[in-house]
Amino acid sequence: MPIPPPQSARSAAPVRSDIAALAGYVPGEQPQGGKWIKLNTNENPYPPSPAVARAIVATTAGRTLAKYPDPLATVFRMRAAEVLGVQPDWILCGNGSDDLLTILVRGFVGAGECLRMPYPSYILYRTLAGIQGANCDEFHYSPDWSLDDGFAAPRAANGEDIKLAIIANPNSPSGTLIPPSRVAQLADRLPCAVVVDEAYGDFADANCLDLVKDNPRVIVTRSFSKSYALAGLRFGFAVAQPQVIEQLQKVKDSYNCDTLSIAAATAAIDDQAWLVDNRARIIATRRRLTDSMRALGFHAQESQANFVWCTHPTRPHKPIYEALKAQGILIRYMNYAGWGDGLRITVGTDDEIDAFLACIKTI
Ligand SMILES: *Cc1c(COP(=O)(O)O)cnc(C)c1O
Repeated sequence: MPIPPPQSARSAAPVRSDIAALAGYVPGEQPQGGKWIKLNTNENPYPPSPAVARAIVATTAGRTLAKYPDPLATVFRMRAAEVLGVQPDWILCGNGSDDLLTILVRGFVGAGECLRMPYPSYILYRTLAGIQGANCDEFHYSPDWSLDDGFAAPRAANGEDIKLAIIANPNSPSGTLIPPSRVAQLADRLPCAVVVDEAYGDFADANCLDLVKDNPRVIVTRSFSKSYALAGLRFGFAVAQPQVIEQLQKVKDSYNCDTLSIAAATAAIDDQAWLVDNRARIIATRRRLTDSMRALGFHAQESQANFVWCTHPTRPHKPIYEALKAQGILIRYMNYAGWGDGLRITVGTDDEIDAFLACIKTI
């Protein structure tokens, strides 16, 4: 057979049609350079523990970086296990908790199968399901941000079995917490694994770690991006019973965490005094931000995280976001189809929040 001549104007090869149809997850704006007050992506406004820089520098010595990292991040698992009161084989590390969410969706939900999540919540879950060719069963929060028993229904609205449920707890954008006793109830009724995404767990009054010990279907994920002030580093972990971790290890990339991030995260979790102090500062500023927004006539949801969800009874939200942006202050404008919109404001330093409040008062 003659070989066809080269085509002069080649078009790009098509990706899978369901990927082409996917909107793709859009993270909050990350302006590079300029003097922004960034209150839009829930980063910690303070520098991380000084132990982190020391650990990173130590890692650059000699031939350490010439070698592949430890695929299981053993030093981190050992240290974290002590801090959390579990065994090291209950922990799986990831390149940020988003990596763990990807591993979990790939591990539990096949193409055409169904993933349940509350709505509105972290939009990435929907994207992960889409990449997997899976369906989303979005279950609306009650007006007080609780989840009624319908969340535990074994089948989706389309009749499919639910293969995985993911609850962000505390939730974004609301900052609200489903009490662990209620999560336990829902997990007991659901026919599948239940991921409790505790990216903001360190700022909350309670967490679901104890549920993992009682129920092999519960998996908790944690992030170093928010409470440990290491969003630029990329590190997170999941806690589940060892037989679950063992299965998930097959799904992850071989070297999903690099040597620098393993060393840095180990140093960070080792400095619990830093965490306690940082948490107290964020919570104090959160109180002040919440009260100030209420004084300005907003409805500010009581938060268990490092951000506050605000809505205004009469003013449209988007122009407020835009006016702040024009003044160099970034907050997050969120608009959820079929639900409504509002403003999510990250708890910054006291100075940042003062500047934000001074600006919003003029709008
Ligand atoms: C920020 C966030 C994450 C992602 O954390 P990374 O560790 O930075 O990947 C996961 N879930 C929720 C709800 C978040 O807000």
